[in-house]
Order: sequence, then C-alpha cells, then structure tokens
Amino acid sequence: MGTEWMTEGKCRELDPAIFFPSDGIGVQVAQRICADCPVAEQCLQYALDERVDHGVWGGKSERERRRILRRRRLSHVAARA
Ligand code: SF4
Repeated sequence: MGTEWMTEGKCRELDPAIFFPSDGIGVQVAQRICADCPVAEQCLQYALDERVDHGVWGGKSERERRRILRRRRLSHVAARA
C-alpha cells in the first residue's frame, strides 16, 4: 500500500508527537483529530498492513489495532477450518 494518502491527513501540519501519546487522555486527543480525517480508512489500513505497533493511526489505538488483527487472524483460521 502506498503512502500518497498521507499528504491529505488532518495531522499533516500538526506535531507528530500528538499521535504517539503516552496515556489514555493523549489517545483520546489524537482520536478526536482522526475522527474527521478524510483518509482515516487508508491510514488504519496502512498501519494494519505494515504492522505499525506504536501510535494512533486511523483513529485506532495500539490496543485497538492489535484487537482488529487478532479478530482477522481468528476469522481467517475459522474460514480455513
Ligand atoms: S487518521 Fe489520524 S493519524 Fe491518520 S492521517 Fe488522519 S489524522 Fe493523521
């Protein structure tokens, strides 16, 4: 997946540190910005595809992305059973 979408991200002129928060409040601040970002879907997909561990991407926290990946793995295993 390419990275052209990044130029349209709502975060492009913000401090990147906002998207690498150290606590839950910081995560919520980032998620509020992502909430009406026009490329949130691509951003989330990129982070999932590239297995990006840190930060808020596409409005999803590290924990939320791990959950999504786990669900995908489980449904993939179930589909093959
Ligand atoms: S979804 Fe959030 S992190 Fe991703 S490009 Fe948009 S504002 Fe930036």
